[in-house]
Amino acid sequence: MDLLEYQGKELFARHGLRVSSGKAVTDVDAAVAAAGEVGYPVVVKAQVLIGGRGKAGGVKLAADEAEVREHAQSILGMDIKGHTVHTVWIEHASDIASEYYASILLDRAAKKPLVMFSVEGGVDIEEVAERTPEKLIRRHVDPLAGLSREQAVQIARDGGADADVVEGVADALVALYDVWLSEDATLTEINPLIVTPDREVRALDAKVSLDGNALYRHPENQSLSDSANEDPLERRAKEEGVQYVKLDGDIGILGNGAGLVMSTLDVVAQAGGRPANFLDAGGGSNADTIRGAVELILANDAVKAVLFNIFGGITRGDEVAEGLIAAFGQLDERGKSTPFVVRLDGTNDVEGRRLLAEAALPNVYSAATMNEAAEKVVALASGRAAGAGVSA
Ligand code: GDP
Ligand code: MN
Repeated sequence: MDLLEYQGKELFARHGLRVSSGKAVTDVDAAVAAAGEVGYPVVVKAQVLIGGRGKAGGVKLAADEAEVREHAQSILGMDIKGHTVHTVWIEHASDIASEYYASILLDRAAKKPLVMFSVEGGVDIEEVAERTPEKLIRRHVDPLAGLSREQAVQIARDGGADADVVEGVADALVALYDVWLSEDATLTEINPLIVTPDREVRALDAKVSLDGNALYRHPENQSLSDSANEDPLERRAKEEGVQYVKLDGDIGILGNGAGLVMSTLDVVAQAGGRPANFLDAGGGSNADTIRGAVELILANDAVKAVLFNIFGGITRGDEVAEGLIAAFGQLDERGKSTPFVVRLDGTNDVEGRRLLAEAALPNVYSAATMNEAAEKVVALASGRAAGAGVSA
């Protein structure tokens, strides 16, 4: 679960990391009022779950009321890489002497938290990592001991922080680690971590991802999930209790069990196709569950063909088939004209396939194996014939 900058900054402040004071607002008048409260000059910042807002024109300095009005007007409603700006954050502008970079994430290969620090912040950190990797310090932390002050000071020194702010940078790193650990974050990143002319170290930006599965331990963070900024389909899936992740291909995917769905994505990709989504229907086999899932898949206009990959375990193949048949009967025109490939295997698969064949659904094709199913659906999505249908 990604947080908006201002939400991340709220968490930072709670853990003693220095940030500028500000206010989140959703209209121009409120932006002007907020600017008056935090004091000029201010920065008007688009709140969207995507980086590079500055380059896209979503971060603007304003010296007076007229400028706040102008910038809030242009930034609210702006589209930044497909994300519409609904909220702007108004904060008191900082004077900047240096822009550093700091982040904490989990290095899964090393099974340890990883601290990254660079004095070349403010820009694309990927570029720094690529062109001058020696300028991006990477240090693992003992997960049991945590990030000690000594290690944080060492990281700041090794990274080349100005001598007079080594202590300030170390404080920021320790606080950032505290946020990462105690809030169950998967990523905490500050770019830029600034040094002001009077040598204060402060987070000017915040990127925080929280582990959604650990949210139950943080009831106070639950309200941070910003539904207006989520993908509308993913929001709808969440409301319906379906595990759905939107992807950018054109082949809709439905399976039962997260592992099966993930391997289905792989097999489709291997067959040269591009999945449009991840959807795990879980153990659900009744018509309502399946119809809901199909509607969700087809709500994505990019979908040209759909692959059903069902392995019967506790969920029986004949039940799934009945659910499918009932669901297909209730589909709208677009649903009916979209080709479906069904691979049914496992408990009562023969019976399930027989039911499907008897139903003789138009535009529904069966496949005996996952590979065959993937090849068929890729062919159908690209407008080629897929061979025999279920009824053939
Ligand atoms: P991003 O582009 O989405 O990463 O947004 P940031 O919050 O990092 O802002 C982008 C850039 O705007 C920063 O790297 C700064 O150079 C500049 N910026 C942001 N806030 C201020 C500020 O308070 N004062 C000044 N002078 N520049 C700022
Ligand atoms: Mn930034």
